[in-house]
This record gives sequence, structure tokens and C-alpha cells, in this order.
Amino acid sequence: MLKAVETIELTNRQEHIVDIVKQNGPITGEQIAERLSLTRATLRPDLAILTMAGYLDARPRVGYFYTGKTGTELLGEKVKNITVRHYQSRPIVVQESSSVYDAICTMFLEDVGTLFVTDKQTTLVGVLSRKDLLRASLGKQALESIPVSIIMTRMPNITVCKEDDLIIEVAKKLINKQIDGLPIVQDVDYGSGYEVIGRITKTNITSLLVDLANEETI
Ligand code: ADP
Repeated sequence: MLKAVETIELTNRQEHIVDIVKQNGPITGEQIAERLSLTRATLRPDLAILTMAGYLDARPRVGYFYTGKTGTELLGEKVKNITVRHYQSRPIVVQESSSVYDAICTMFLEDVGTLFVTDKQTTLVGVLSRKDLLRASLGKQALESIPVSIIMTRMPNITVCKEDDLIIEVAKKLINKQIDGLPIVQDVDYGSGYEVIGRITKTNITSLLVDLANEETI
């Protein structure tokens, strides 16, 4: 995962600096250092962290201001800037001519819950979930003889996203549509279809949550 400073748990000294700036801002680095009986150089990393994380604002020749934002507000702002590009998985794709039997094998072998279906030109034509395959398995027909194109959810009813979309928008789509994942697509043939370039699922969003808790997001 990409790493940088963001909504962080502050050290005692950083909390102290925030308090000083809250009460006395605008205040220069020198003045903060004086109040803490430390050198300006010692404080420099703390001030850099607090500024980058959004707790403080710095203006040249004026000093530091308290932005008034709480950790939760900063976390919210941060989440609203994370895009699909940062949390995605490899798409697992089967051809529309594949059988339900082959799709089930692929789902087990690749250990995924959603398969995307493409035509011969690699254009997205469908989605297959675990329950789609289970439903097909309940019938009497041999699974080798049923093409996935008969049972898949098909275009234009597929919810998709692009690499630059916000993760939070994807999360809302997953909840509203009650699905587990979305294909990440790019336009082909001047918008007449989509090529699948990735996959984003509830698992990716769970790992974002863990990274946020561990302070390891972008
Ligand atoms: P499961 O069936 O394992 O609970 P989902 O909740 O993801 O998995 O799928 C529910 C239904 O929604 C299935 O019929 C599936 O084909 C369809 N589906 C899954 N993903 C999408 C998507 N991105 N767009 C449209 N339909 C989808």
C-alpha cells in the first residue's frame, strides 16, 4: 500500500503544539519552540506532520493557524480522496461461450466470488456471481451444456466503475445495488462498450478500512 502521513494518532508533544496554536495562533515556529523550551529544529518534524495531516495551516511570514478540524473530519476528507485506482484486484474473466461448469471451476481455482464475462473482442457483456452459478446448478440440465451467457446478468444492467472514481462512491453502489463487487472498466470503441481492467469488491474496501486504522493509506 502507498504510505504517507494523514489522520494520525498524535504524540503528546504534537497534542501540546496543537493546543498552543489553538490558543495563540497565528504563532510562529520560533514562538511555539520557546513555549515548549525546545529548539525550532526539534519541532520541525512535528510541525510538518501536523501541517500535512491538516491539523494546522502554515502561512509564510505569519505563522501557524489551527484549522479547527477534528480527527474524524480529517479522516472523512481523506476517505473522500481515495480512488478505485488505489484499491483494486485483478479481474477474473470468462468468455460468454464458456459453460457454467467451467465458470464454477474458474471461481474455485481463482478463489473469487464474482466473474466477469466478455465476448471474443474482450468487451464486457456479463457478470456471474456465486448465486447465479448455484441457481443454474439446481436445474436438471448438465452444467457442461449451459453457456454462461444464458444465466449471467448482462449489459446494460451491469454496474461499473472507472479507475478515477472515488472508493466511497463504489461503496455506496455496492450497498444500494446489494452486490459484492464492480468491474473497473475503460471505454472501448468510442464509448460503444467497456473493457474490464480491474475488479473492486467488499474485500478491497475492508482492506482500506484496515489501512485507515493502521494509518497506511495514501
Ligand atoms: P451473490 O449472488 O454471491 O450474493 P452478488 O450479491 O454480487 O453475489 O450478486 C447478486 C446478483 O447481482 C447476481 O445475480 C449477479 O449476477 C448480480 N451482480 C453482481 N455484480 C453485479 C454488477 N456489478 N452489476 C450488476 N449486477 C451484478
